[in-house]
Amino acid sequence: MNAYTVYAPLLSPVSQSKFIWYPDGALSVDELGSIAYAGSRQDLPSNLAALANRSTSNIVAPGFIDAHTHLAQYRCRGRRADNLLQWLKRYVYPEELRFAEPGYARTCSLDFFAAMAQAGTCTASIYTTSSAASTNIAFEEAERSGLRIIMGSMMMDRNAPEALLQAPPIAIEQASDLINTWNRKNGLLYYAVSPRFGVSCSEELLKACGQLACESDVYIQTHINEQREEIEEVLALFPASPSYTEVYEQCGILTNKTLLGHNVHCSSAELDIIQNHGSSIIHCPEANLFLGSGRFPLEDYEGRSIHTGLGSDVAAGHSLCMLDSMRAMAHVQGRGIHPFIPLYAATLGNAHALRLESITGSLEPGKSADYIEMRMDDSIIGNWNYAELDSEEIASCIVYALKEQDIRASYVAGSERWRNHCE
Ligand SMILES: [Zn+2]
Repeated sequence: MNAYTVYAPLLSPVSQSKFIWYPDGALSVDELGSIAYAGSRQDLPSNLAALANRSTSNIVAPGFIDAHTHLAQYRCRGRRADNLLQWLKRYVYPEELRFAEPGYARTCSLDFFAAMAQAGTCTASIYTTSSAASTNIAFEEAERSGLRIIMGSMMMDRNAPEALLQAPPIAIEQASDLINTWNRKNGLLYYAVSPRFGVSCSEELLKACGQLACESDVYIQTHINEQREEIEEVLALFPASPSYTEVYEQCGILTNKTLLGHNVHCSSAELDIIQNHGSSIIHCPEANLFLGSGRFPLEDYEGRSIHTGLGSDVAAGHSLCMLDSMRAMAHVQGRGIHPFIPLYAATLGNAHALRLESITGSLEPGKSADYIEMRMDDSIIGNWNYAELDSEEIASCIVYALKEQDIRASYVAGSERWRNHCE
């Protein structure tokens, strides 16, 4: 690709309490798709000012990262049930069964990645179904989308419809093949060994997952401590373990590349275990609100060194757009929270949770040019201009007022993956 410079207002996280904001900014992208410069237009080096360029009044910010979502559930959003286990039986398992049909898997995968790029998500960690063939198709469409994708085939060997179950040796063999084909392909794709949760995975399967992930140096993603009924069922299935977290610890699936979805109900002792293993927690607030799982205790993570990410968790979350997850993160707390907290979570915080902070999550020289453009029209900004607003005020408008249709373009590695051409 040809190197270029974009002149635009720039916002980017430095930490959970600090964002840089250049109302009159410039972002330069080199021929490899990496960021060569991100800062004020005034300080742009002359060689970068000489590159091909374009200007926009849209705010340029790091592409959103979705650290937990389900490709195969995209078409069953909005179906309410009384609790998680009933919801899985009534809506999710029947939908996952449909992915055995390759044409259906292809169409849904294509739609899903298109919707993701349109929502401003440039990087995501995704579950597919237990069908290896449908997971292959999903990876083909992920590759075609040009997004940065961590993904894995769902693994279950009990307590779900027979056609979704696999004996551990077969599940591991299929996951190994998928790892060999897709992990680290094109520098954008990664594999995640994906046992669903303690209810639907035997000790044998969980142990095999832990071993495979360690041997292959890949991610593990799973669910934990989402609802009280689920926890009770897991403890009944694993009577030797005093907690859900210890089930996972004893099976060897808590690694520093493990992504644990939810963790709404968790003791301090369990958090100590998770912290010791360096695993990440992925908070999915829309799903917690929708399924009535409870309030994620954000305050329990203060002072801890646990990376806490943010996920849309479609289809328990209704939207792939991380703007909706950010707002839900604030609302589920029952109080207004500083806008940097959710905006950091959906960008650099998630990059840390996914161990991709050296590659993406902020606009810094040397990182991949993964960025989005967001429109902030007069209905939000009113009579103010960008130079009169500070980073906190801009972040607040983004988190609390922008909508999915305000995402105007998404770029990964400097290349356009989606643009709304109706300006
Ligand atoms: Zn989930």
